[in-house]
Amino acid sequence: MRLPWLPRKLQARLLLTYLVLTCVGLGGLIVWMGLRLQTAVRERAAHDLHVQALVIANALAEPFEQWQDHTNVDRPAFDALVRSYAHSVGARVTIISPALRVLMSSDKTVPAYIVQEHPEMVTAWTGRTPQDVRWDEWRQEMRLFVAALLRPEEKAFEGIVQLSIPIAPLTREIRRTWVRLLTAGGVILAVTSLVSLVLAYQVTEPIRHLTAVTEAMAGGRLDQQVTPAGPDEIARLGRTFNRMAEYVQGIIACQQAFVAHAAHELRSPLASLRLRIEMVQCHGPTNPELTQRYLYQMEHDVDHLRRLVDHLLALSSLDEGVVPSLAPLDVAPILYELADELAPLAQAAGVRLCIDVPAHLPAVLANADAIRIIVRNLLDNAIKYTMCSGLVTLQATTVDPQHSTLNAIKRDARPSTLLMQVIDTGPGVPADHLPHIFERFYRVDKARSRHQGGAGLGLALVRAITEAQGGSVSVESTVDGGSTFTVRLPLYTSV
Ligand code: ADP
Repeated sequence: MRLPWLPRKLQARLLLTYLVLTCVGLGGLIVWMGLRLQTAVRERAAHDLHVQALVIANALAEPFEQWQDHTNVDRPAFDALVRSYAHSVGARVTIISPALRVLMSSDKTVPAYIVQEHPEMVTAWTGRTPQDVRWDEWRQEMRLFVAALLRPEEKAFEGIVQLSIPIAPLTREIRRTWVRLLTAGGVILAVTSLVSLVLAYQVTEPIRHLTAVTEAMAGGRLDQQVTPAGPDEIARLGRTFNRMAEYVQGIIACQQAFVAHAAHELRSPLASLRLRIEMVQCHGPTNPELTQRYLYQMEHDVDHLRRLVDHLLALSSLDEGVVPSLAPLDVAPILYELADELAPLAQAAGVRLCIDVPAHLPAVLANADAIRIIVRNLLDNAIKYTMCSGLVTLQATTVDPQHSTLNAIKRDARPSTLLMQVIDTGPGVPADHLPHIFERFYRVDKARSRHQGGAGLGLALVRAITEAQGGSVSVESTVDGGSTFTVRLPLYTSV
């Protein structure tokens, strides 16, 4: 859910969240405490006044009886007594008869009249703690009223001692309490705001750092790293960012190396072509034999360039994620066709080319052109690097590791796999070069490979195309013991 009034900056949002939570929590606490204190102040005042009413009622019981009996105390004497008590407790003291007539009051503004039966009187008759806050028409103010029963011993009549005080001093005390609470709340809010500001700044600091680094990367400065800091999640984001930056740097470094290598490989045949063209232009008309030889070499250079460009294009399209379209395929006819195609090359190199492939093989999920590129490259290499009178064999078979007696197959091959092998009796590859020969532009013997028209891309392409079809390629080789290149492709299962 989007809240349009939320600030856009994360730091401001965090600050707002902290402040809203603090305000709600603190505000609720202040209101609750204020109301509790307000009630406590009122109840304490009412309780104190009621205690005083009971004391006065007790003290006035005998004089009241004597005044009512017209014995020792007359009205002025009783009046003076009531006033002195009223003065000593700082409250208005009023004596009310059971018939609710005001018999006497310390306050002269209160006339002798019939009063209503107010709540404090009702509760006074029943003996509970009575109190009431109401508008007093004689003093024109809100007052707190309490009452106590005036009950002379063994007499049938009785009365009520009503005490009242203005509510204004209590209200002032309550207001002071509220002001103190709100001031304390304000100070706490100010401190909380300051702490929240620091916290929000600290929480968002790693994000600002990450943003700055990302912007620097977007601006082309790729050698950027962040220092993973802050809360766990953000530190993890920082570490992930560093990994991603390293990955991007790696890809770009690879691409730059790829382009540099490609340019370097293209330059040599182009330079040689240019030289030969100049020679033909210069000596061609007078020396047809030399022209013929240069034209033959130029054709060789052009072939090399075409092969190189084909490999570069195929690799870059695989890098872009373009996967060859796959379909169930019997590779046997393709292998026979390739053996026929490369037979003249083998013959020219003085190498015997054998094929040991059944007439039909179970289908694999593959692409016919991709299979041609793989096998042609492997055969081409085998013929190229095998000496005169050597032997190159193209084999293909299927293996089911469950039924194989060979441990290597049991370990290596996936269930129901097609194995295509190119075995030669050539010079082999030294063990320290073996892990690298599938890398781009990697050549074991650079001079020899270049002389034979190689750029170190053939095996890299074989591996990329095989893996794009869900297969794998490996090599076993010993120096002077020949090499065996094995391509494994999963058999097609029509589930
Ligand atoms: P190139 O086009 O140079 O042959 P590849 O990628 O096809 O490049 O091969 C990489 C390197 O592996 C070659 O330079 C060569 O040294 C070595 N190599 C490939 N196939 C064989 C083989 N059948 N016998 C010996 N060495 C080989």
